Amino acid sequence: MVNENRIIDEFIELVQVDSESGAERQLADLLKARLKDLGLEVREDNAGSFIEVGQTTGNIIGTLPGNGGNGPLLLLSAHMDTVKPGKGVQPRRENGKIISSGNTILGSDDKAGIVAILEALRVIKENQLQHGGIQVAFTIAEEMGLVGAKGLDYNLLQAKLGFVLDSGGAPGEIIIKAPTQYSFTATVKGKAAHAGIAPEQGINAIVVASHAIANVRLGRIDEETTANIGAISGGLATNIVPDKVTVEGEARSLNPVKAKAQIDHMEEEFVKAAAKFGTSVDFNVLKQYDHINLAADSLPVRIALKAAESVDLKPHLAQTGGGSDANVFNGKGIACANLGIGMSKVHTTEEFITEEHLIQNAKFIVEIIKVTQEIV
Ligand code: ZN
Ligand code: CA
Repeated sequence: MVNENRIIDEFIELVQVDSESGAERQLADLLKARLKDLGLEVREDNAGSFIEVGQTTGNIIGTLPGNGGNGPLLLLSAHMDTVKPGKGVQPRRENGKIISSGNTILGSDDKAGIVAILEALRVIKENQLQHGGIQVAFTIAEEMGLVGAKGLDYNLLQAKLGFVLDSGGAPGEIIIKAPTQYSFTATVKGKAAHAGIAPEQGINAIVVASHAIANVRLGRIDEETTANIGAISGGLATNIVPDKVTVEGEARSLNPVKAKAQIDHMEEEFVKAAAKFGTSVDFNVLKQYDHINLAADSLPVRIALKAAESVDLKPHLAQTGGGSDANVFNGKGIACANLGIGMSKVHTTEEFITEEHLIQNAKFIVEIIKVTQEIV
């Protein structure tokens, strides 16, 4: 029922609409018009006002009222923004693949997701398929740290069940586990002094930070947990005992209790090191996103498994160490799996996707909407 040429053409069209993070306006306006044409009620929230760079485009939320189907309200989501270099993409079709000219990314992350959702909505309309209501969320600034999903106006989203189309695996891959992530910024205070004349009057912030870092467990902590210190800066010159060092790091775990324990451990080591040298540390923790842990018998998993089988995709339940908008949605009480859509080598100028995967994605989403009506 999907129209293969229409899918490819729309993908080729959308990747040529620039939408680097923070500059999604042109794509957002195009998508708003397209959703309206498909009969959705379209809103734009003001999540863009939380972003300090670029224009203030918001998340686009479309709602298609149910037309007699039995299924619950279903959320389908993909992000509008791309990483850099994403301006002036010149897509090329080559042996069943779509690639960029090599000077930019392609933008299948995440326009392949957007195209699958639009085609599914068209198929629903053209064939008057019954459903219990569909909500679409096209988010901004996912690549800046899930900024759009975090700032989304959840009054506009009533769905409690959904799918995000934003994972790199082949269609049929269903991400059901993803970590909680905390990040921190530790500002270690020292005391400045002349390094040659009066070093004993100083407290060396670099030394304090080094002690803390040497005692922090890092890397792969266990099967579910990782930790990293990723940036450090401070000090002015060799002849000054440094009075300040800033250290940035993160902790992630599929188990939220372990993620919290790891970030607490990191804080404790900084506090201990500061105390040892008679100084203090300002340790700021930010929870970046919540974990995903969907049970094998949860509604989104059952729907995705059944739908994948009926369109001849090999379903495969998977976990990831990264975060996506699906983490944020799950944290907001929307049971939401992230689906593999076949995008490959994302965030590089070698990014590509096959035409076959673009078509399979659309078929899969149509089938997900159908199965949602039967399975409840
Ligand atoms: Zn993405
Ligand atoms: Ca990405």
